[in-house]
Amino acid sequence: MNENYLQELQAIVGTEGFISSEESIDPFLQERRGLYRGHCSAVIRPGSTEEVSEVVKCCKKNNVPITPQSGNTGLCGGAVPQGGILINMGRMNRIRDFDPVNSTITAESGCVQFDLQAAARERELMMTLSCPAQKECQLGGNLSTNLGGLNVLRYGNTRDLVLGLEVVLPSGEIWHGLRGLRKDNAGYDLKHLFIGAEGTLGIITAATLKLFPFPKTRLTAIVAMAEVEDLMEVFIGTREHFADNLVGFEIIPRIAVEMVLQYDDNICEPFPSRHNWYGLIELNATNQGLDLKTPMTDFLRTFPHDSKIAANESESDALWAIRHAIPEAQKIRGASIKHDVSLPINKMSTFLTEAAKQVKARLPGILVCSFGHAGDGNVHFNLTQPEKMENQEFNNLHQEFNRIVHDLVHQMNGSIAAEHGVGQLKYEELRKYTDPVEYEMMRMIKRTFDPQNLFNPGKVIKLDG
Ligand SMILES: Cc1cc2nc3c(=O)[nH]c(=O)nc-3n(C[C@H](O)[C@H](O)[C@H](O)COP(=O)(O)OP(=O)(O)OC[C@H]3O[C@@H](n4cnc5c(N)ncnc54)[C@H](O)[C@@H]3O)c2cc1C
Repeated sequence: MNENYLQELQAIVGTEGFISSEESIDPFLQERRGLYRGHCSAVIRPGSTEEVSEVVKCCKKNNVPITPQSGNTGLCGGAVPQGGILINMGRMNRIRDFDPVNSTITAESGCVQFDLQAAARERELMMTLSCPAQKECQLGGNLSTNLGGLNVLRYGNTRDLVLGLEVVLPSGEIWHGLRGLRKDNAGYDLKHLFIGAEGTLGIITAATLKLFPFPKTRLTAIVAMAEVEDLMEVFIGTREHFADNLVGFEIIPRIAVEMVLQYDDNICEPFPSRHNWYGLIELNATNQGLDLKTPMTDFLRTFPHDSKIAANESESDALWAIRHAIPEAQKIRGASIKHDVSLPINKMSTFLTEAAKQVKARLPGILVCSFGHAGDGNVHFNLTQPEKMENQEFNNLHQEFNRIVHDLVHQMNGSIAAEHGVGQLKYEELRKYTDPVEYEMMRMIKRTFDPQNLFNPGKVIKLDG
């Protein structure tokens, strides 16, 4: 490898966009959960699409691997480099266009999710990408992981929200695909190749997203149940009653509430008595004055257990705080082995019961904290170490628990990678569980776009073996 390429790169992006000292590179290499630590020769922070294109051409000429990075909040080690250079998109953070008539926003990929939400809100519009990492994660990362998050039931995944993309390809060419069309059947829909590709096929530099009218009414409710199958019945009932007003349905097990109460003084017990399962329901409506409270009160009355409706925004936020505090509380509680899986809705409760039974049989005392976007068929099936076990001893069981959980998911026609992606974490698992014909098609796409295998090698798709 010609080491002069670093000088070439510096000449392209200037000193402002070039970081090469060990100390300054360090913060970009660390994955937040401490699962991965990367290494690279330099961090490049381009200021424009043209600069990205020149950087890629230089890397191609010198055979240098590239890892794209946005907010580095991804949970699969996708943005952690294993050599070559890191391209961090944070300086490309301009909103290029607002089109109120088309109801679209065109923004660069380094825009922080929260800033895009705020910019849309100023215009009475809603940018519906939303997840608990909203103040750090960026548009490019959201697109590249096909972010799910909190609004999927009502507005869809990232894929459903993107109308156009601008991408720098592994050849260094720029694809100017920033169209804002809601109908466009002119050949293959190429944008979907880059959404969810985790930086293995190109670098997304900008996107045009659909916006929605900002909701005038919001309602949050919580319902408690003894059995998870009853909770899933509540979900089905909520979907039938509230149709498009249903934004999210999250499940929370008792163990999660206990962890959160133990570690976060700001969180309150949702009901005076304890319950095995809780369902958090979020509705919204764009028509002014629409009464969601009366039908929700009537609906909740049909269930025998505890339930309540938040009286105002701060009560809504307090209920959501329980949900948002779970990952941090779990981290404080000890080592955990996490599974981000999805299942057909009709198999969700069977999966949760059976998977919990199997992991407890393997390791008595293990804590099963399965929570999340059950209304989307997505659950974070997270396992926390038993009280008296050493972290390392528990972490050593990672592969064994993956096998138990992922085998079951596979048997039930689910997915082992629901919303967080594949990255390094599930690199081998994807190979193991993907239909061979499907995997080969993915390889063909990867080889076609990136014949030198320079874009995020070691992530998502294995070219050999
Ligand atoms: C507290 C917390 C809560 C979370 N909740 C959710 C949730 O509810 N739903 C959910 O889906 N995820 C969730 N996540 C995961 C994470 O926030 C998302 O995956 C997010 O989309 C990643 O965005 P990012 O900007 O941090 O991307 P990064 O972590 O920087 O990158 C993610 C991947 O995309 C690639 N990439 C980044 N930018 C580009 C680009 N411009 N072009 C091409 N490839 C690129 C990277 O190489 C990497 O493979 C959560 C994470 C945290 C820490």
